[in-house]
Amino acid sequence: MKELKRFILVGAPASGKGTQGRFLAETFNLKTLSTGAMLRREIENCTPLGQKALSYMDKAMLVPDEVVNDIVRGWLVNDNEEGWLLDGYPRTVSQAETLDHFLAERGIDVDVVVWMDVSRELIEQRITRRRECTSCGNIVQKLDEQCDKCGGQMVARKDDNLEAFARRWKDFEAMTLPVAHYYEAKGLVVKVSVTEEREPQEVSQELLQKLEEYSNKR
Ligand code: ADP
Repeated sequence: MKELKRFILVGAPASGKGTQGRFLAETFNLKTLSTGAMLRREIENCTPLGQKALSYMDKAMLVPDEVVNDIVRGWLVNDNEEGWLLDGYPRTVSQAETLDHFLAERGIDVDVVVWMDVSRELIEQRITRRRECTSCGNIVQKLDEQCDKCGGQMVARKDDNLEAFARRWKDFEAMTLPVAHYYEAKGLVVKVSVTEEREPQEVSQELLQKLEEYSNKR
């Protein structure tokens, strides 16, 4: 099996990307760059970049391409032989083209794009229940007040309401689905389709199996 080292994770908001991203990072020994988490950190640290991002994220809008492109470029510049996983990037075809260009200059290829294909109905059900730990980032589908991993405080994410979701879904369909198709045309996509509630471990196992098949065929 040819080693898979450079991953992109594409999925709708609340598709379970975070959970599967952690699974992939552990299984394939990858460093993860989540642009959403990175932007939230910039906001917490009150940096100029954070202030700029906040004005978009507050309205559940995508942050401008050049802002996230800079973040990712800065991170990938240190790319050596380690594997990585990009979570939440690229989110527009323009971001994907910028990434391709940047990687090509460095003689690097994306090995695989994992596409979490989840139905809108399922996400709407989940979104009303999702809670995230303010200390360790653990995400659960239950209304806990205390994190079962670290004891931290669990909160509903600020953008987790159905109205904001409708907007994010529209952006996802208009801008991010074309990214999945862009990579599909290059033969790089491994897709897991989830239409009903399944345990995250089941989804992980299916993903692993599909990744093995994919990598054996390369
Ligand atoms: P989710 O996966 O639930 O949408 P993320 O943590 O990935 O949440 O992202 C949160 C917010 O950060 C997004 O709604 C968007 O405003 C911004 N963001 C993250 N990644 C990108 C990106 N690649 N391009 C533009 N905006 C982004």
